[in-house]
Amino acid sequence: MTLRIGIGYDLHRLDEQGTCMILGGVRIPHPRGFIAHSDGDVLVHAIIDALLGAAGLGNIGQRFPDSDPNLKGADSMVLLERTKRLLQSAGFGVINIDSVIIAEQPKLTPHVEAMRQRIAETLDIERNRISIKPKTNEGVGAEGREEAVSAQSVVLLEER
Ligand code: MG
Repeated sequence: MTLRIGIGYDLHRLDEQGTCMILGGVRIPHPRGFIAHSDGDVLVHAIIDALLGAAGLGNIGQRFPDSDPNLKGADSMVLLERTKRLLQSAGFGVINIDSVIIAEQPKLTPHVEAMRQRIAETLDIERNRISIKPKTNEGVGAEGREEAVSAQSVVLLEER
């Protein structure tokens, strides 16, 4: 069995004018929302980039470009579903995903199980293969000042 590792990172700005906060496909009640071309789901964007990177299939900007009007306001779970099909066609399966979300507010731990469930269902893998760890940034940097939320992800794929 050949193993392939991938890394992904994403950040989106937060604002009172932002549409809403969606992370891991779960809508999070919060007065500030993401400013983004899509729904701004940084966790799913980081996971997609890690999956594409591990498979040698480019990156999210190439596969789902900002310039595509069909992707304006796009549901990132649809992009994740499309990424899954790209991986399947190329003969890859997901062994596990580990990820970090950096957000000062709100508290995300109560939403982690719902995020794992949505991502697991979309990727057709068991929930215990997906890890999501919310962190604050101790009040420093863009995330700490609540100007942005970022996410990092690593994935391991098997080549079938
Ligand atoms: Mg993004």
